[in-house]
Amino acid sequence: MKSLVVVKIAGFTSLLVTYSPASKAMTEQSAEHLCLGMGIFLGCLLTLLLCLYLNRHYRRKYQKLLRQLELAKSNAQLAEQTLNTLAKEQQDSQDFLEERVQERTLELNIALQELESANQELERKNVLDELTGLHNRRFYDQKILAEYRRSRRNLTSLSLVLIDIDHFKSVNDNHGHLAGDQCLIWLAQYIKQSLKRSADKAFRYGGEEFCLILPNTDAEGALLVAEQLRTLVSEQVFKFQEVEVSLTISCGICTYHQQVDIGPEQIFSGADKALYQAKHNGRNQTQQYTFID
Ligand code: GH3
Ligand code: MG
Ligand code: MG
Repeated sequence: MKSLVVVKIAGFTSLLVTYSPASKAMTEQSAEHLCLGMGIFLGCLLTLLLCLYLNRHYRRKYQKLLRQLELAKSNAQLAEQTLNTLAKEQQDSQDFLEERVQERTLELNIALQELESANQELERKNVLDELTGLHNRRFYDQKILAEYRRSRRNLTSLSLVLIDIDHFKSVNDNHGHLAGDQCLIWLAQYIKQSLKRSADKAFRYGGEEFCLILPNTDAEGALLVAEQLRTLVSEQVFKFQEVEVSLTISCGICTYHQQVDIGPEQIFSGADKALYQAKHNGRNQTQQYTFID
């Protein structure tokens, strides 16, 4: 009986070995073929097993790597999300901060503006007389000193005109104190009008006494200013509650033109003496004081 051993390796029939037990003799060639076939078969089997093992090993390894990759991916996504959230929170807090800073800056600017206008108002009040709007006595003290120094530096004349309302007491007595106040306001407008240059300044020196500082103005120029004002006032009529009141003023002038030992106080005193003279001579007039060298 013959047996057929068929060895199939990788899909093709490679070898046929004939074996006959009846002859109980195996040719040497057949034995070699069998051994070779068995060897190849075993080799193939081993290779197959190795391949299977390697396949399984690398597939596991690959799957493990895949899992690690997935994990890394999800970690990266998580990190990105966290980063985005952080960035958004940072942006939000930055926006909030910027908004607050803008608000504060605005508030600060408003406060600064208010402070500035309050300062300006204070400065204005500091130099102005509230009733008439002319400069006040405090400002006169500063201004006369400044103009006196300028006059000495530039060797120019400086004139001072003192103005006093004639019989002003009778306005108060006959028409009331309120009428007296209105009368002062009324006169102040003409005094303002009388100033010819921007450097000329008018002051309410006391109750119903006013004065003009006229820089770079000689005695003749000062007399012209004072007389124009006096004439204008004498031609106008002050009205209070339909009652007409005629008023006049008296003026005293003193002009400084570099006389020795003469300062602001002596200039004022000279103008005051001239005013006294004007009153004494019958009022509604202007007198000038001359320093005796
Ligand atoms: P004279 O011609 O000599 O100057 O006479 P007068 O009446 O003007 O005399 P005097 O200068 O002595 O009087 C000033 C008066 O002015 C006294 C005071 O009642 C009044 N007076 C001073 N300041 C004010 C004021 O702010 N308002 C009012 N209504 N009256 C004032
Ligand atoms: Mg007076
Ligand atoms: Mg008077």
